[in-house]
Amino acid sequence: MKKWIKDLLKLQETDLRIRQLSTRSEMIPIEVSKIDKEIAHDEAELQKVKENDMTTKLEIKQVESEIMQHNDEIDKFQKQSVMIKKNDEYKAMIKEINATKTKINKLETRELELMDQMDEIKKSFRKEEKIAAERKNTLNGEKEDLLELETTITTQSLKFSDNREKLERPIDFDVLSLYKRLIGKGIGSPLVEVHNGICGNCHLKLTPQTANIASKQVVVTCENCGHLLYVAD
Ligand SMILES: [Zn+2]
Repeated sequence: MKKWIKDLLKLQETDLRIRQLSTRSEMIPIEVSKIDKEIAHDEAELQKVKENDMTTKLEIKQVESEIMQHNDEIDKFQKQSVMIKKNDEYKAMIKEINATKTKINKLETRELELMDQMDEIKKSFRKEEKIAAERKNTLNGEKEDLLELETTITTQSLKFSDNREKLERPIDFDVLSLYKRLIGKGIGSPLVEVHNGICGNCHLKLTPQTANIASKQVVVTCENCGHLLYVAD
């Protein structure tokens, strides 16, 4: 293979590696932010369960205080009942007491329901808390790995970049300019191999003349996509 092709392929290999590393590196902040969002989401879900627990606790207190009020009312009725002389007034009072007792019964049932509910909430909170803690651990581990990868990529990229100036040196100015323009587009390889008269970049058939020049390993570009061409020995 002619020297210009070998030299350019070496440079291209380095540049493609740098491009690959940079693409990987660009993904890292996105992945890290996805992980942060997942952790925040888990925490918000736990917070919701906690708030649910608080609401239930408050409701239980409310029910308990209503029960106390009704018990006080019954006490009051019973104290008053001593003074009542008339039978129908007495009957009316008994009716009031019974109505209040029914209210208390209902409230006590509600209190039991709420207590069951709270037990369930507590159980589910402990379960969720455990799952969230484990997930947080895993996610933080993934995050650390990503940040480590970022450092590795930066180091590798710097190494490749340091090397590329040396690789550029032997390459003809015009070829290098064209190559740089093509690599700058960020898609595909600037120098591609021709297989059976077909461009390795755009995959279209080259004119016989271009294919012929490429086969002699003389600098030539694809008429369609403008990429540099070579035919391997
Ligand atoms: Zn092409």
